[in-house]
Amino acid sequence: MKKMLSLALCLLLLLALAPMGALAGSAVSSDTLFVKPVTLPEDFILGVDASSVIAEEQSGVRYYNFAGEEQDVFRTLAENGVTHVRVRVWNHPYDKDGNGYGGGNNDIEKAVEIGKRVTAAGMKLIVDFHYSDFWADPGKQMVPLAWKDMEIEEKTEAVYRYTRDCLNLLRDAGVDVGMVQTGNETNGALCGEKIWFNIQYLMQAGARATREVCPEALVAVHFANPESGAYATYAKKLDYYDVDYDVFASSYYPYWHGTLENLRAVLSEVAETYGKKVMVMETSYAYTAEDTDFNGNTIGEGSLVTKNYPYTVQGQANSVRDVIETVANTTNGIGVCYWEGTWISVGTESWEANHALWEQYGSGWASSFAASYDPNDAGKYYGGCAVDNQALFDAKGRPLESLKLFALVREGNELEPVPDAIEDTFLTVDLNGEIVLPETVNAVPL
Ligand code: CA
Repeated sequence: MKKMLSLALCLLLLLALAPMGALAGSAVSSDTLFVKPVTLPEDFILGVDASSVIAEEQSGVRYYNFAGEEQDVFRTLAENGVTHVRVRVWNHPYDKDGNGYGGGNNDIEKAVEIGKRVTAAGMKLIVDFHYSDFWADPGKQMVPLAWKDMEIEEKTEAVYRYTRDCLNLLRDAGVDVGMVQTGNETNGALCGEKIWFNIQYLMQAGARATREVCPEALVAVHFANPESGAYATYAKKLDYYDVDYDVFASSYYPYWHGTLENLRAVLSEVAETYGKKVMVMETSYAYTAEDTDFNGNTIGEGSLVTKNYPYTVQGQANSVRDVIETVANTTNGIGVCYWEGTWISVGTESWEANHALWEQYGSGWASSFAASYDPNDAGKYYGGCAVDNQALFDAKGRPLESLKLFALVREGNELEPVPDAIEDTFLTVDLNGEIVLPETVNAVPL
């Protein structure tokens, strides 16, 4: 009897001592998702940008786990192998009456709220400072309104103070900050500055604040368009000005951004020339061609883009898996972060109902209020989500099987091959002659 008791005690102890991550990881299995394994270092970053979660929840979106139960979406991400969550931070995405510009209305308060939940779920936060009041990307790097009249010296000090104050808020809230970006897709512009002589001051200021407040965090610079051939130039400029950073990060959208081999080559060159870490900070892929929120999507059937995988859940997982493998095979490659995996439709009833939610809670890409800051783009084309078909959750907030990729990619998941989709078939026909259709088409396996 005593022996049996002690055996039971030992088992209880073992269960109590087992790391949560190990239990959660081992619990993930799939009968339908094929995953070819990738050998990864233990600390390889498998991130998901989830910036819009709070605006989504305010709009009525509910997220579920694989058991069909409503559950904190960050816990669901962690249970499926996600190690980091990325969140964008805009200085002041509100008009003078306090109406949000949309795109999640992602100010530092939202980042703190998300960061607390991310930390509670055992993951780290990647803080993506845009140093703008709204979207910053290769097309625009608009200065925050409050900084618009500043010369570069004053603006540099403003970036330093703002970064320091934001990171202090995160630290005081107990958020585990793993990485800080000093700008978003800063292809030759940042915060209204368009020459490297000025841009470098701002990046330096962001890095200085990060080193002071979050000395454990990595500092990342972030660029887009690896296919452009410009990365060697960016890295050379950063080196020339002795800009302080750890990670040279790239966006990689397979539709537009060249081949995986090119991605590997340009990142490896930066890593080997300057001894930097490299990663893919944004990638995504469509799991369906359908739109679910009455706001047209960037990618759909007939989009004139490179399509190396079908728009299926398996195709989405295969695309991300191949990006992970590519970064793993890149010199000093440390991780891959999926972009906006949780940005789904706020409703499937009508455009009118969704439009009201986008305006009120900022859950679309831009609200009409953004016109006061960005009249030429958001002011004209404001609306809902253009990437709901690239999320890792369906329109009802249920996780897609592809989410399990992050847990399964290390060991792989073997399945009997079955057709997943029909390969796109193209015909060239002579309109004066007889049109002959092919007798067979190819299936795309899992
Ligand atoms: Ca849409």
